[in-house]
Amino acid sequence: MSASYVSKRQVVIGLEVHLQLNTTTKLFCSCPTDYIGKTPNSNVCPICLAVPGTLPLLNDGAVALGARMGLGLHCKIQNYSNFHRKNYFYADLAKAYQITQYELPIATGGYMDLEVGGAAKRVRVHHLHLEEDAGKLVHPTTDGRLTGAMYSLVDYNRGGVPLSEVVSEPDMSSPAEAREYVMRLRQLARYLDISDGEMESGSLRVDANISLSNADGSLGTRVEIKNMNSFKSLEQALEYETVRQNKALDSGGRIVQETRLWDNAEGVTRSMRNKETASDYRYYPEMDLAPIVITDEEIEDFKRGMPELPWEKRDRFARDFGLSKEEIAIITEQRELAQYYEDTVASGAPPARAANWVRMEVLRMLNERGGTISDFKVKPGVLADIVKKIEDGELSSTVGKDILELLVAEDMSLDDAIKRSGASGRRLTGDALDGIISGVLEANPDVADVIRSGQDRKGGKLKFLQGLVMKETRGQADPKEASEVLSRRLGL
Ligand SMILES: [Zn+2]
Repeated sequence: MSASYVSKRQVVIGLEVHLQLNTTTKLFCSCPTDYIGKTPNSNVCPICLAVPGTLPLLNDGAVALGARMGLGLHCKIQNYSNFHRKNYFYADLAKAYQITQYELPIATGGYMDLEVGGAAKRVRVHHLHLEEDAGKLVHPTTDGRLTGAMYSLVDYNRGGVPLSEVVSEPDMSSPAEAREYVMRLRQLARYLDISDGEMESGSLRVDANISLSNADGSLGTRVEIKNMNSFKSLEQALEYETVRQNKALDSGGRIVQETRLWDNAEGVTRSMRNKETASDYRYYPEMDLAPIVITDEEIEDFKRGMPELPWEKRDRFARDFGLSKEEIAIITEQRELAQYYEDTVASGAPPARAANWVRMEVLRMLNERGGTISDFKVKPGVLADIVKKIEDGELSSTVGKDILELLVAEDMSLDDAIKRSGASGRRLTGDALDGIISGVLEANPDVADVIRSGQDRKGGKLKFLQGLVMKETRGQADPKEASEVLSRRLGL
């Protein structure tokens, strides 16, 4: 399946994104929410197991997180919202109904602005509602595939964990737009401390509705896709479905309204069941819970408590630090990394050079070694010192990188790391330095000739030789002295 497939018909995608809210306890009881890795069915109580006679009690923390996310999505926060029971039978649902918001959700009518392939795009958000999660079915198969299990097990540890579901309008017109929308939604949730937004662990789950519009512009039959566990599989599943639906229509077939599951191993979607309509679920008002009332004063409090949002931070970084769009996108992707960068600049590192180091070196080391920027051993003040020393010509970039590696690998001060790297010895002077420079010139006679004949007007060739000299000396020479000797030898 190639991402370059051009659909003959307009692709129409709407997404339902479930975010697991970062509360310490479940939505209607005091069971903890950190169920991952626990013994199955140990993280439960009579309320989340729906033992008759128990009553749910709403977690105010989840309401606050839902309201914050709604504000981040430019929604109107409702003064009055309530819960319904969504009735359906499935083994992972102990009550045989899910408590969810239906007619009156907590937040309505927002949007998320995206940039996809250089073009601006606004995706409208229909609403955000709160609901409880279901348990988990475990299908023991030997090869990890969806089909072929002889029996299923059920684990209720996750049952009752609070979710916010963000329902978009069908405004996305390509799989790439859908992917970008979910990435920006995850970023917002993380900036607001609402959710970890990990697709792999299931704290962010996406159900996609996709249809191809008819020749007269009316919406075609929509198909719901589930079971996409990464951004890549989300995009692949939507690409696959675009091709499948086009081919079916081309050959005179029709699209069945249904739910299909993405099979990541095979790279296909498979029919799961015909889609229930809302009336099949039989929604009833949840009479055991009082309505959620949020006063205007409380909404104002939520607004005042909002941190700087991703797009606000991007604008400010462009204004204050003069970085490129690409640099800003990488540095502000995580709030903690953006803060690390800002602290490095505040400690005196020049913004452009600091951006390079954070992007190229710090992120590379985090990727290689794992861990997060919050527990990265080189603190912003120390990185700023290294960057300043490079800027002042006291250290070469190569030695700077060695020093960073040393600081991450071992507990030592910056001074000790500089000594260990050999950069402070500056042993290479006079004849020893001359010898290295001779070697570089001999190895690059053509480049030297161009410079000597005055044709290196922009100085790029000289910089190239300077770089080679610094590399050969491993930073054990003073960059200024090395540069002077090199210029003299080239007759400059
Ligand atoms: Zn419980």
